[in-house]
Amino acid sequence: MTIVIAHRGASGYLPEHTLSAAALAYGMGADFIEQDIVLSKDDCPIVLHDIHLDQVTNVAEIFPQRNRDDGHWYVRDFELLELKQLEVHERGNSDGSGPVFPQRFPYERGHFQIPTLQEEIDLIQGLNHSTGRNVGLYTEIKKPDWHNKEGAEITLHTLDVLKQNNYEAESDNIFLQCFDSTELKRIRNDFKSKLPLIQLIGKNSWNESPDDFRKMSTDRGCKDIAQYAVGIGPTMDLFYTASIVNNSVSPTNLMQYAKNHNLLVHPFTFRADSVPLSFRSYEEMIRWFVTDLRVDGLFTDFVDQTIDLIKGS
Ligand code: CA
Repeated sequence: MTIVIAHRGASGYLPEHTLSAAALAYGMGADFIEQDIVLSKDDCPIVLHDIHLDQVTNVAEIFPQRNRDDGHWYVRDFELLELKQLEVHERGNSDGSGPVFPQRFPYERGHFQIPTLQEEIDLIQGLNHSTGRNVGLYTEIKKPDWHNKEGAEITLHTLDVLKQNNYEAESDNIFLQCFDSTELKRIRNDFKSKLPLIQLIGKNSWNESPDDFRKMSTDRGCKDIAQYAVGIGPTMDLFYTASIVNNSVSPTNLMQYAKNHNLLVHPFTFRADSVPLSFRSYEEMIRWFVTDLRVDGLFTDFVDQTIDLIKGS
């Protein structure tokens, strides 16, 4: 069965990475809930997508003087108690022109805080206890090269919190993901972690890591990844080419390369309100990835709709 990973929680319905979004994703039946991790000034792993606070919080209003020269407010410049004074809202455009997804949860409404990794684990493990289900963590180390340059040991502190909560064995219900292959190898070889690792694969233009993602998306690349990771999490458009002539999509070789080396395949990000033009509908896209391509799991902002479509396919 294809696993469903709640991308930043139920982020299609509530501001991303809030405990409310995690709880809703849990209630909708997600198999795994994603946490992106960045490190506070006092070395607390917190759940937030960006190293900046600008696009999802009211930081400019609460701490107007605390931005760096580049105009950004960095998580790393704030202690946890300060971060807790902020309110989280729907993601805004970087130019301040309003929400990225205007049809989602009303912009700047509601009262949401930035959770720590520990708080989110408390929620998920608590729900596992009260429901008898076993929903997993899908934790991402964000920009380790940037954190390391800042002297911030993000991986060390994240692994510590995970270990304190009994996530340390190969069989524990967690995947640890990162775009940076150097850091994943460090987790395996230097930190001696046995956790199941996922190599994320994006576009080189995103500047997510110093890696060359084109090389990674080859048979040789997948062979190398299989030395340290159990699977790959590539951006979904690496799996198909679209033909405008007969209005159809064909698979690239990436799925085959991954399977040649027994890698799990968990593409991102499936959004019912943002379907690529190559597919006629969200339903068609999910069917193609699940039934035709046969991925092992997928990251989605819309857990409920995705589970319904997988069940019906
Ligand atoms: Ca992520």
